[in-house]
Amino acid sequence: MSEAAAIDTAGICDRLDDVARRAGNAAERSGRRPGDVRVMLATKTQPAEAIIAAVQHGFALIGENRVQELVAKAADLEPYSHEAHLIGPLQSNKVNHALRHVSCIQSIDRLDIAEKIQRRLDVIDQTVDYYIQVNTSGEESKFGIDPAQAIEFARSLAPLDRLRLRGLMTIGLNSPDPDAVRPSYQGLVDVRSALVDAGFGDGGGSAATDNGAAGGLELSMGMSADFELAIEEGATLVRVGSSVFGARPQP
Ligand SMILES: *Cc1c(COP(=O)(O)O)cnc(C)c1O
Repeated sequence: MSEAAAIDTAGICDRLDDVARRAGNAAERSGRRPGDVRVMLATKTQPAEAIIAAVQHGFALIGENRVQELVAKAADLEPYSHEAHLIGPLQSNKVNHALRHVSCIQSIDRLDIAEKIQRRLDVIDQTVDYYIQVNTSGEESKFGIDPAQAIEFARSLAPLDRLRLRGLMTIGLNSPDPDAVRPSYQGLVDVRSALVDAGFGDGGGSAATDNGAAGGLELSMGMSADFELAIEEGATLVRVGSSVFGARPQP
């Protein structure tokens, strides 16, 4: 039996509708329009058939963690119009592959990788959007730059003219307590304010989504367990996986 037969398409669609409804309500609670917040599917470990079911249901914004998975699913997804971002760490030997499959890299936290991306984009004469990943929870295990270094880091990337700063990404504190998680998201809002005050954002050619985000800089924050809270704090893009596709197998 093919893998496709095992996909619970109806369940995926129901859960997508539920996530969209909850995200829209949270946007309204934060004084915004439902359309101001985009729902990204975090598709790690999911087979292409499950992703295609979601894309065909109108959720065409996809985030993958690993370049290998992007490559493996690319041919299956290719016929279905979608937008793919990388949301996991990028190793320098995967830069070329990543640039073939994504329009945005949300996980930029190293200058040397950004420089490598710029060199490759020079060769293929293209540009790429990026978000700076910020470690707002202070957890050692997390990738991302220190919030206090955001302006300096953004300045160091500014000369890389093929990379377009479009936003900031963070992974919130891993805690069931909303009051403990919230500062992770407030911290990303503060970093964006500091960057906008320092003159970042609203640059680099084509406009970002018109969702009222300060400086045109998106805030990618919030996952299945806490996306409503993240939206209340100002997220413009939430990344949900298990709430749509079900629990992932434990590694
Ligand atoms: C897996 C993942 C998500 C989604 O996590 P869920 O809890 O399944 O919604 C979001 N962002 C990143 C970076 C991830 O790796």
